[in-house]
Amino acid sequence: MFRKQYLVWVITLFFVGCSTVPITGRKQLKLISNNELLPLSFGQYKEVIEAGPLSTNQEQAEMIRRVGNKIKSAAEKYYADHHISSKLSGYQWEFNLIESEQVNAWCMPGGKVAFYTGILPICAGENGVAVVMGHEVAHALANHGNERMSQGMVAQFGMNSLGAALGENPSQTKVLFQQAVGMGTQVGMLKFSRGNESESDHIGLILMAMAGYDPSEAVEFWKRMDALSGGKQPMEFLSTHPSHDTRVADLKALLPEAMKHYKP
Ligand SMILES: [Zn+2]
Repeated sequence: MFRKQYLVWVITLFFVGCSTVPITGRKQLKLISNNELLPLSFGQYKEVIEAGPLSTNQEQAEMIRRVGNKIKSAAEKYYADHHISSKLSGYQWEFNLIESEQVNAWCMPGGKVAFYTGILPICAGENGVAVVMGHEVAHALANHGNERMSQGMVAQFGMNSLGAALGENPSQTKVLFQQAVGMGTQVGMLKFSRGNESESDHIGLILMAMAGYDPSEAVEFWKRMDALSGGKQPMEFLSTHPSHDTRVADLKALLPEAMKHYKP
């Protein structure tokens, strides 16, 4: 009996919960439907943006939106070319600049991006913004928030969690979302695994190249981050992120692939 149930669960997971990450091709666990997840994400984002304060520097805020839209458009073109545009159904892209000294940027599921003004000196211009934007947009495209919640779901609830996965238990989905976001600590920020962070670096590098930004800037960006943070990892780029040295080495190895997509 148990084995039969288990088999049904595994087969259901195979159809419902297994997804492929575009660009890297990695298989991931994705148990929560975007119909459930995205309204929670959008609600949380709205709260953060309303609390602000948003930057009053219109030129900088406009640059964040411009870079975001160029990278979003590059992603949408890639998805259309590969006949996977349906994966972006329900996304509502938004790119805002918050006034804060924090060296930080983040992205909520469904394409809700926030930059803090504190990261702009390290970006040192539009190309540097594209490095961070590519990385953040990649978190949304690769469904890292959903993956993290799905892993939490299996770890905590095992087979019984399938109800939530199939949309029968929205309240449980909300609890998982709040746990993943880490309510009360860093509002609006999902904490991702190191593997997810490396994957976002990879996808982000390709995206910025597709959007017309020189991907070799990513190496320079991380050198500047290293110099300015004195070896410490700031915020979104915190503990689970690869060390700066590893990161620079990984990005250099990925540059030839990214350069193939780069049309200045
Ligand atoms: Zn990240």
